[in-house]
Amino acid sequence: MNFSDLGLKPEILRAVEDAGYTIPTPIQTQAIPIVLKGSDVVGIAQTGTGKTAGFTLPMIQLLSQGRARARMPRSLILEPTRELATQVAQNFETYGKHERLSYALLIGGTSFDEQIRKLDRGVDVLIATPGRMLDLFERGKVLLADVRILVIDEADRMLDMGFIPDIERIVSLIPPQRQTLLFSATMPPEIRRLATAFLTDPEEIAGARGGPPSAPPPQPQESTDAPPALLSAMFSPHPTPKIRPA
Ligand code: AMP
Repeated sequence: MNFSDLGLKPEILRAVEDAGYTIPTPIQTQAIPIVLKGSDVVGIAQTGTGKTAGFTLPMIQLLSQGRARARMPRSLILEPTRELATQVAQNFETYGKHERLSYALLIGGTSFDEQIRKLDRGVDVLIATPGRMLDLFERGKVLLADVRILVIDEADRMLDMGFIPDIERIVSLIPPQRQTLLFSATMPPEIRRLATAFLTDPEEIAGARGGPPSAPPPQPQESTDAPPALLSAMFSPHPTPKIRPA
């Protein structure tokens, strides 16, 4: 099975090739066609299985048509930590480089002003930690009425970190006519309950069986108050040509 067998468009295949990946991991082989056809997904997959590209690649394709309105992102990815959120943003940088998608990161340790400016211009993909997401919502800086794709990543870690009430609140703000993807390394009863409540007719896939991809996962970074270099680049007043000028 190659990436070209999964239904991805040439611009995305080119970006995957540029990144040096030739063979999709088992979770990617399963997830990409299901996400592309618009179905909900429950993915049982740990970090290191390639699951991030399993949802970012098809999302880039689905979002490549259409434009975001001010303060109304078209998709939302919830991550338990800012390190994971930053890695997801890096995936969009890498795989979306031939597309004109815009995105923003809402995570602690970065300035509110920059995040708000970015949202004001309209973003296709919003990547957020739950607390920061709700904080900006309460301030009236972001509306979730246009979200058509919702990703809840690392759901069991969200549970361990006490984020489930925040997740429930956020999901209640998103219209039910949406595609929802939920990924979790394990499926405790509480996560199973959320999957039943938030997803419609999901297809269930598991990524661990095929083993990790050939490249080792990056080491976790330390949390610091300094924004990672990527963030500075993403929020710079003169974004790189990869990022669509709003
Ligand atoms: P993830 O499970 O999404 O955190 O990905 C773990 C690591 O696998 C990351 O460093 C990715 O860059 C890498 N990766 C993702 N897809 C592939 C692939 N198809 N082949 C080899 N490595 C990959």
